[in-house]
Amino acid sequence: MNAPVVIIGTGLAGYNLAREFRKLDGETPLLLITADDGRSYSKPMLSTGFGKNKEADGLSMAEPGAMAEQLRAEVRTHTRVSGIDPGHKRLWIGEEAVPYRDLILAWGAETVRVPVAGDAADAIFPINDLEDYARFRAAAAGKKRVLILGAGLIGCEFANDLMLGGYEIDLVAPCEQVMPTLLHPAAAAAVQAGLESLGTRFHLGPLLTRLDRAGNGLEAHLSDGQVLHCDLVVSAIGLRPRTDLAAAAGLEIGRGVVVDRHLQTSHANIYALGDCAEVDGLNLLYVMPLMNCARALAQTLAGTPTPVKYGPMPVTVKTPVCPLVVSPPPKGSEGVWTVEGEAADIKALCRDNDGNLLGYALTGAAVMDKLALNKALPPLLA
Ligand SMILES: Cc1cc2nc3c(=O)[nH]c(=O)nc-3n(C[C@H](O)[C@H](O)[C@H](O)COP(=O)(O)OP(=O)(O)OC[C@H]3O[C@@H](n4cnc5c(N)ncnc54)[C@H](O)[C@@H]3O)c2cc1C
Repeated sequence: MNAPVVIIGTGLAGYNLAREFRKLDGETPLLLITADDGRSYSKPMLSTGFGKNKEADGLSMAEPGAMAEQLRAEVRTHTRVSGIDPGHKRLWIGEEAVPYRDLILAWGAETVRVPVAGDAADAIFPINDLEDYARFRAAAAGKKRVLILGAGLIGCEFANDLMLGGYEIDLVAPCEQVMPTLLHPAAAAAVQAGLESLGTRFHLGPLLTRLDRAGNGLEAHLSDGQVLHCDLVVSAIGLRPRTDLAAAAGLEIGRGVVVDRHLQTSHANIYALGDCAEVDGLNLLYVMPLMNCARALAQTLAGTPTPVKYGPMPVTVKTPVCPLVVSPPPKGSEGVWTVEGEAADIKALCRDNDGNLLGYALTGAAVMDKLALNKALPPLLA
């Protein structure tokens, strides 16, 4: 039998690539391997589940068996790839060797963990997949007070969502504003004020240094001496592309697994997309880029080499208390910001010396302008 096209990972990158590939090629054997339970779900929904009162099962869109049938593929669940052998075009699952025709890395990014002193480290929950979400929901049942670590996009989304679900929120992060790498300070202030109006208590500046059990709850010690009381901690301090197995196999690594515009790694027949991939210098941990990659790579795998293109990639942040759309200026670009509006309705625009729009952050009523502004944004990968 011919060696299959093998995709490692059944997140949005893996399943969407398989779907796009099957539109073009119904014959080539296809094998998907995943360390998790293989259910198909939309990860962005994880930070809207409490507001909508959805259990993990309610967020799952299809079981792996149904996905296998739909994709005419084999889906191996709870199976962790442990090594790649590019010289022999095979991968390892423990002692088992699995040959491939082409191998696609769609194995995502892992949550950054920081060591915290104290006896309650097990009460810190990362939420980066459906199984994490199920664990957190079970632990949060009947509890009231959640401490969120991290003021990035995901930390802010969880703050909004958990408050809609009836929880009290303290948010701790060692930065001066929310979403510091994404947002102009005026837009950040609008989002912070929105979340505060719902009840979030922000503690921007200090770090969590120690977490201890105290009575029925937890005692969180911050580096500025504050002590906060909570029942659970959500960690949203960042994601790091998974690169270890690729590095061990000798593939080029940057911020993620380095790929060219054809999504090919430094080794022929091995490709990468999604959160783990650094595409022509860009490691974008969002859905829109991976959908573009899935369509282009499917063409390449089906015999028509196709480079990926990225248009503008604005991100809609799910903080309904203060609607927010952001398109940060391309890395390394030089621009000047102007800010219009006030309070919740901020329109912050970044332009170059010739007046060309490079990026924006829109909050509140100003998000209405996004469609017109998107037309003026430069493509990220032309
Ligand atoms: C809470 C949250 C909200 C978000 N909201 C938005 C949003 O609103 N808009 C947006 O654009 N983006 C959002 N994102 C980002 C977006 O969801 C991700 O960019 C996208 O889902 C990544 O998909 P992926 O398939 O690359 O990775 P993942 O979904 O992480 O999938 C990785 C897969 O690889 C498997 N795997 C890993 N290692 C191995 C191994 N060694 N062997 C076998 N299998 C392995 C895993 O089991 C999993 O199946 C959000 C992310 C989070 C966490």
